[in-house]
Amino acid sequence: MKTIIIKFGGSSLADPGRIRRAAAMVLAERRRGLRPVAVVSAPGDCTDDLLKLASLAGGENLSARETDALLASGEQMSAALMALALRAEGAQAVSLTGAQAGIRTDSAFSSAAVLSVDARRLKRELAAGRIPVVAGFQGVSSGGDITTLGRGGSDLSAVVLARALKAVRCEFRTDVKGIYTAHPAIVPDARKIRNISYGEVVALAELGTEVRQLRAVNYSAANGIPLQLRSSFHD
Ligand code: ASP
Ligand code: MG
Repeated sequence: MKTIIIKFGGSSLADPGRIRRAAAMVLAERRRGLRPVAVVSAPGDCTDDLLKLASLAGGENLSARETDALLASGEQMSAALMALALRAEGAQAVSLTGAQAGIRTDSAFSSAAVLSVDARRLKRELAAGRIPVVAGFQGVSSGGDITTLGRGGSDLSAVVLARALKAVRCEFRTDVKGIYTAHPAIVPDARKIRNISYGEVVALAELGTEVRQLRAVNYSAANGIPLQLRSSFHD
């Protein structure tokens, strides 16, 4: 069976209704005969709210280790909620932290680099017929500490898992329908771009429009991972 990665952004998970809709999209892919692995961002503005909380509690010179431990909790909340929503639909699902999913990083807290992925646990879950829901944006250092992968880092989680599981593609479900020639809300005749090269996406980011985390795009280019941008509001 072909594996696909479906990554949901925070706005697509901002409330329980949206989480249930995202879960339904995961199940729809499974009915199409694919084996989905979900990767989730923290709900809504959770990461920014956690950052504010961190400085309210810890002042200015925050410990990078503790900040990462706090920030990673946002994605863990999404993963557990999504697994609950999938189970409510009768599917077997299991939430996993980055560490449980085998994402090993260096110890550069707040922008750790992924060193390797030990996909054994994920493969066991898939073989048992369960849908893994992986908390994005995080990994674990060789010292056993929780690390985060830079803002937007759930994109990187998704693509490293795509490579490790030899997924046929990596889908990003977001609050936009795709990449447009201009901002559709500002330019009424903006067109949706059907196909775009990795290089063009990198160029867009250099011009100030980061449609996906740059690290994730570069990783996908280097590893030939097909990326698909889709709406999480319209199937
Ligand atoms: N929640 C984190 C952020 O907003 C990671 C992510 O969404 O990819 O940067
Ligand atoms: Mg976010």
